[in-house]
Amino acid sequence: MKVNNVYAEFEVVRDFSRCINCRLCEKQCANGVHCYSVEKKTMLADDSKCVNCHRCVAVCPARALKIVKSELTFRGNANWPDEVIKQVYRQSETGGVLLSSMGNPKEGPIYWDKMLVNASQVTNPSIDPLREPMETRTYLGKKPQRMERNPDGSLRLEHTPGLELSTPILFSAMSYGSISYNAHAALARAAKELGICYNTGEGGLHEDFYQYGSNTIVQVASGRFGVHKDYLNAGAAIEIKIGQGAKPGIGGHLPGAKIVADVSKTRMIPEGADAISPAPHHDIYSIEDLRQLVFSLKETTGYAKPVIVKVAAVHNIAAIASGIARSGADIIAIDGYRGGTGAAPTRIRDNIGIPVELALASVDERLREEGIRGEVSIIAGGSIRSSADVVKAIALGADAIYIGTAALLALGCHLCRSCHAGKCNWGIATQREDLVKRLDPEEGAQRLVHLVTAWTHELKEMMGGMGINSIEALRGNRLMLRGIGLTDRELNILGIKHAGE
Ligand code: SF4
Ligand code: SF4
Repeated sequence: MKVNNVYAEFEVVRDFSRCINCRLCEKQCANGVHCYSVEKKTMLADDSKCVNCHRCVAVCPARALKIVKSELTFRGNANWPDEVIKQVYRQSETGGVLLSSMGNPKEGPIYWDKMLVNASQVTNPSIDPLREPMETRTYLGKKPQRMERNPDGSLRLEHTPGLELSTPILFSAMSYGSISYNAHAALARAAKELGICYNTGEGGLHEDFYQYGSNTIVQVASGRFGVHKDYLNAGAAIEIKIGQGAKPGIGGHLPGAKIVADVSKTRMIPEGADAISPAPHHDIYSIEDLRQLVFSLKETTGYAKPVIVKVAAVHNIAAIASGIARSGADIIAIDGYRGGTGAAPTRIRDNIGIPVELALASVDERLREEGIRGEVSIIAGGSIRSSADVVKAIALGADAIYIGTAALLALGCHLCRSCHAGKCNWGIATQREDLVKRLDPEEGAQRLVHLVTAWTHELKEMMGGMGINSIEALRGNRLMLRGIGLTDRELNILGIKHAGE
């Protein structure tokens, strides 16, 4: 007799006094949880297939459904939590690497929540953003260190090309393939309407989205999928992805099932073939090699585009960033260990890397100490959840931030963390046509615009409260932050004082 040790994680609770057997939940669930029994004349549910994406709950016209966490439990054991026991069972059945999606869910210090923001009182008046101008426009790239003059004595006004954003928020890299065409369309349209940028990720740029080029960051990752001259020239900036927070030190793997015709054309790889990007860039083994790639990309694009180098937040991040700043890159993107992604090996996601707050503070400090902070801008990412996180990130030294998970939530994601299965019931992390159709790109774009607009309002309010009227004045202004419940060591790395000091 085959025994199934991996119990269902969730239970479908159906209120039969409400259910009208309309079978909508059955039609809407790509995981095949619900079915109608002709014999019993009632709906049935297979709990073991439920990923708790809430699609059925949201579409049920009778409000007859709820999903609860299964009460099945192992005997309490602090050393062997239920989750770990289930993982051992699963691996002993499959022999495979555990996969997860959408970032590290484990408890760990969230430093954003251990920092409090200042507000002006009495002598340094606050600013009312409704009545006074408040500048959120942000320029990313090299900043001139001093005024320079041309041979005729006139001021030199040409600067190294950079990115201009209406607000210091960008949509982080999510490739076409890992997310759907409609999700990409929504991100592109929203970025254009907002005057910010979205990022192609490593999947190339679908021909329909070239029209959004001035709001697009085109990525060059180790697999070089979809990279060609027109692609590089299409974007407003080019990002070299060395690493990402959810899976530092390893490459990417998009299963062949997601490489449908359009994705295959965009990535320039055969349909149905797994897209495996190598762990390292095979042409980068030193800062000099990185410099060569930075300048090859600049050469290809006529020195008209800034180059971003994205790295995962890891132990020696300050020294790494210093090297990147000297490689000729214009912007460094640092991705913290809580960053989300379509699919990542669970062990790597949960155990490798460091929180972006600590990485950001130490990078900003190191670049200042070395007198090269103006050579590069810094984008911080990896679980930025609200406008308060944005304010704290900028005060810690970021010029702008990347949002990924929050953007997907705005598109309707319910954080069921099963993107790797390719059956996203909300039409986001899937290439199945029937599912993709569920996401209306126009509506999605509007929701993204609303989210970023709301965060920008809050950003202005918080800056006004501090008596600050521009992002430029907030950047690296650690006096505006105080720590709460942090050790001296942590305060020291963050470069902030404790509350009350
Ligand atoms: S969608 Fe709701 S009402 Fe319709 S069959 Fe499912 S549980 Fe019943
Ligand atoms: S994108 Fe879809 S599959 Fe991924 S976590 Fe969100 S709802 Fe679940």
